[in-house]
Amino acid sequence: MSRPRPERGDVEFPLAVLIVEDSENDALLIIHLLRKAGYEVAFERVETAEEMRSALEKGTWDIVISDYNLPQFSGPAALELLKSAEVDLPFIVVSGVIGEESAVALMKAGAHDYLLKDNLARLVPAVRRELEQAEIRKERQRAEQALRESEEKYRMLVEQASDAIFTADLDGLLLDTNNAGCKLLGYTIEEIRKLKVDDIANLTPGSQLRLNGLASGEPLLIEGEVLCKDGALKYVEVSARQLPDGNFQGIVRDVTERKQAEEKLRQLSSAVEHSPSAIVISDASGHIEYVNPKFTALTGFTLEEVRGKIPLNTYGAGELQDEAKRSEHWQTIRDGKEWRGEMLNRKKDGETYWEAASISPIMNSAGIITHFVAVSEDITLRKENEEKIKHLNAGLEKLAMTDHLTSLYNRRYFMQRGAEEFKRSRRTNHPLSLLMLDIDHFKRVNDTNGHEAGDMTLQQVAAALKSSLRETDILGRMGGEEFAVLLPNTLSKEAALLAERIRHAVESIPFEIPGATLTITISIGVAMQAEGMSGIDDMLRNADVAMYNAKHRGGNCVMRYENVSDEEQRLR
Ligand code: GH3
Ligand code: MG
Ligand code: MG
Repeated sequence: MSRPRPERGDVEFPLAVLIVEDSENDALLIIHLLRKAGYEVAFERVETAEEMRSALEKGTWDIVISDYNLPQFSGPAALELLKSAEVDLPFIVVSGVIGEESAVALMKAGAHDYLLKDNLARLVPAVRRELEQAEIRKERQRAEQALRESEEKYRMLVEQASDAIFTADLDGLLLDTNNAGCKLLGYTIEEIRKLKVDDIANLTPGSQLRLNGLASGEPLLIEGEVLCKDGALKYVEVSARQLPDGNFQGIVRDVTERKQAEEKLRQLSSAVEHSPSAIVISDASGHIEYVNPKFTALTGFTLEEVRGKIPLNTYGAGELQDEAKRSEHWQTIRDGKEWRGEMLNRKKDGETYWEAASISPIMNSAGIITHFVAVSEDITLRKENEEKIKHLNAGLEKLAMTDHLTSLYNRRYFMQRGAEEFKRSRRTNHPLSLLMLDIDHFKRVNDTNGHEAGDMTLQQVAAALKSSLRETDILGRMGGEEFAVLLPNTLSKEAALLAERIRHAVESIPFEIPGATLTITISIGVAMQAEGMSGIDDMLRNADVAMYNAKHRGGNCVMRYENVSDEEQRLR
């Protein structure tokens, strides 16, 4: 990098010389000496300030060699001009005569050397030396520039850092901070410079102790709180160290949000730990990572026993459950939705239990499922109760529609069915017939054999009626010793035939009661659904009229309503 040091015989080195000289001969002499020394000289000779200024403006020069006295200019004025042009070039004065005082003044003003014209032997060494010096100066300037730029870069880095950077002196007085530092505390830089570390920092006792031993030079990582201008406390992490100048530097990171998140997590964890529901957390592939104490209390399995396992293979009684239901359940949560339902599981001791569970997927910020959380309650008892109630309800329903003595349908249910069958018959245009049956002289059975025997007889008659009917026929006890039969899809004529068969069957049966065998006969009235009827009541009334007519004819016979004369109808 250093400037050429031409010696005789060396290759020529370019040198641009600006000569301030009124004498052309003197100028040429100087050029001649330089060329002889091996420089490849390019030069311009100027005699006035004007000429020198324009030469400086248009050219790049390596050196200025100036006369001291010129008719319209001078060495000191040329030096001034060079300085005002802010060009750092070697400035050598070559003069015919120059007094000691002038020479000293010149050197003080910044000239680099002076020579007498009658002693130019020093010219080449002086030029060579000054070129080298100029090169050294340039080198230093470059280094200084680089340092300034690097300092600027560092300063910008500090200013733009997201962490706050503070410096403080040995007494704890804050000296400086960056933007992030002002932002962290809410103070301006001027306000901060009036504060001490203790005014804003509340370090944990352990940190404080360690901070006291900071002089070792090793950075210390400490944490604590800082008090902001608005009174808010922020939680910070500080990397503190002592700088070479003895001051302290702290790089301060605001970790308030992280601390709050940690605290929230701690609260949530505690809630999960103490939850009255059993909670199971598994990874995305379903392997258990966590179970809470309630889960252990319910199933008998500790976390150690189930960690890394799949619920179904551990405590799920999957073989007792519906395969389709299970795959629907997995599909739901894999789709990122919550699944709710009931599952049969098995405790460690083998006992099964029902749980009502809700299983939710947990997703990360990218929407990818990372975990599943299952929250469940033991509903075995509720299930058992539900089962009992279902059973009881079924019993009650049966009770509500049957007659307790004969177990046939009671009147209320028979009428309900009758109304339905009546409507169906109307809708489908299928015939519907109805039989009304009444035991003949039943009062006598009671009177002769007692009420209990009467009851037994009623039960046996009911059984006899039932056994002589078809699957689709509907038999009910309408009250006392009266029965009725609904015959869907049956014409009156067919119904009468059936009635006759029943009548005959009952008549033929010997009814056994304690101490006696009875013969029982019945009278039957037959009616059919017909136009103009408004409901089952109309059919019932007609059957009743027919049955009464059968009684009137002496009982133990079947009568069709169609065959009852108007006069006989009026009789009823
Ligand atoms: P009819 O030939 O005219 O039908 O004469 P009946 O005696 O059968 O008719 P009635 O209606 O006069 O008497 C019915 C009797 O049935 C009256 C009652 O004592 C008896 N009865 C009604 N319900 C029951 C019952 O649940 N158990 C018993 N043992 N007897 C009953
Ligand atoms: Mg009777
Ligand atoms: Mg009766």
